[in-house]
Amino acid sequence: MTTLALLGGRPAVSAAAPHFTWPPIDGTTRTRVAAQLDTAVSIPGRSGVIAELEDGLKEYFGVRHAITTNSGTAALHAAYAAVRIEAGDEVIVPAWTFHATASPLFHLRAVPVLCEIGPDGNIDPARVEELITPRTRAVMVTHLWGRPADMARLVAIADAHGLVLLEDGSHAHGAGIEGKKAGTFGLASAFSLNGPKPLSGGEGGFVLTNDDDLYYRVLTFAHYNKRCRSEIPNGHPLARFAVTGSGLKLRIHPLAAALACDQLSRLDSYLAGRAEIARHLTENLSRIPGLEITPLPEGVVHSWYGLTLTYRPDDLGGLPIERFHQALLAEGATEFDRPGSTGPLYALPLYQHPDQLFPGHPQHHRQRLPGSFPVAEHTYRHTIKLPVWHREQDLALARQYVRAASKVSDHHKELLA
Ligand SMILES: *Cc1c(COP(=O)(O)O)cnc(C)c1O
Repeated sequence: MTTLALLGGRPAVSAAAPHFTWPPIDGTTRTRVAAQLDTAVSIPGRSGVIAELEDGLKEYFGVRHAITTNSGTAALHAAYAAVRIEAGDEVIVPAWTFHATASPLFHLRAVPVLCEIGPDGNIDPARVEELITPRTRAVMVTHLWGRPADMARLVAIADAHGLVLLEDGSHAHGAGIEGKKAGTFGLASAFSLNGPKPLSGGEGGFVLTNDDDLYYRVLTFAHYNKRCRSEIPNGHPLARFAVTGSGLKLRIHPLAAALACDQLSRLDSYLAGRAEIARHLTENLSRIPGLEITPLPEGVVHSWYGLTLTYRPDDLGGLPIERFHQALLAEGATEFDRPGSTGPLYALPLYQHPDQLFPGHPQHHRQRLPGSFPVAEHTYRHTIKLPVWHREQDLALARQYVRAASKVSDHHKELLA
């Protein structure tokens, strides 16, 4: 451990990569998904594995309705449409999230209004109010990397201003605050079931709500014909649109639903295992000069989709993060990652020039310049993240990752030379 691997020494991590794969798939998973092949591979109604998954989600989250979709992006699109976000409406969204949290708004000719984030990486409640205009209809919250946002304050702000509160729980399945799960604070929430997400069906998504009318609007938006015909009551104003709905079909694949069902039954054990390893990583990585971890408030449960470290170059003689990260990778700690496409939204061409893809996009779209979101930009540039393992036997690997980080930190002067 005397020479950095980047400078020709032996790597601190000896295990062969990849060190993290998701979702965990075992014999039970294979049997369950394979059995679905013999049951149904297309389910137009709310039956079979679709009903099983939606019932499981309703029970897990403790909500009245769960509606599956073929992606988290589609779930977000449906949720926005169902809460009646209309042309010209403004929706306050975090300046830093995965773009799909907000991008479906362009299809509704609505305007995403980017809001600075706070020290926890989530939308800053203190900055939401200053963005409210007569056009503001909703606030969308992402629980970034699985750390719940400050929902008590966000609920209070939304209530005080008569705004719809929505949540993107795509990183945060099973996370929560004081026993209340992320995704159950707002009028509706949307989740992804995409590959690496804490609850995965490979591809897929779902919307949660306690509101019956909103449920019918999600069905009308995303599930024309059979589901609308069988589930929207006769006499409801939407019932006559059942055959076509809004014209979109955003149904999850039964094989994805079978995979998600299998994973849902294990989600709490994954989360408990992750919490153990996250505790070990947090305790040890936060002691390393150059790295800082924002503590979790009491009563908050993280899903540990990502454990984020804030890099502090000033502690290491100004060593650039690129070089520090490169040295970590050379140590064989290949899961240390920097956020790529999950970055400040203002910089994306869609957010700079939406009119080029959406002619007629409202004129009041605010084009933002570099420097508009100093916290989001600084946090984005200084974040190094790790996936969090959940099996007890992975603790040894976690220890090797801590050793790699501490080795690079100890030897940073050699990288400055
Ligand atoms: C993954 C993700 C989405 C989109 O989900 P897909 O299932 O990939 O469409 C939306 N928001 C966030 C925060 C995500 O991480």
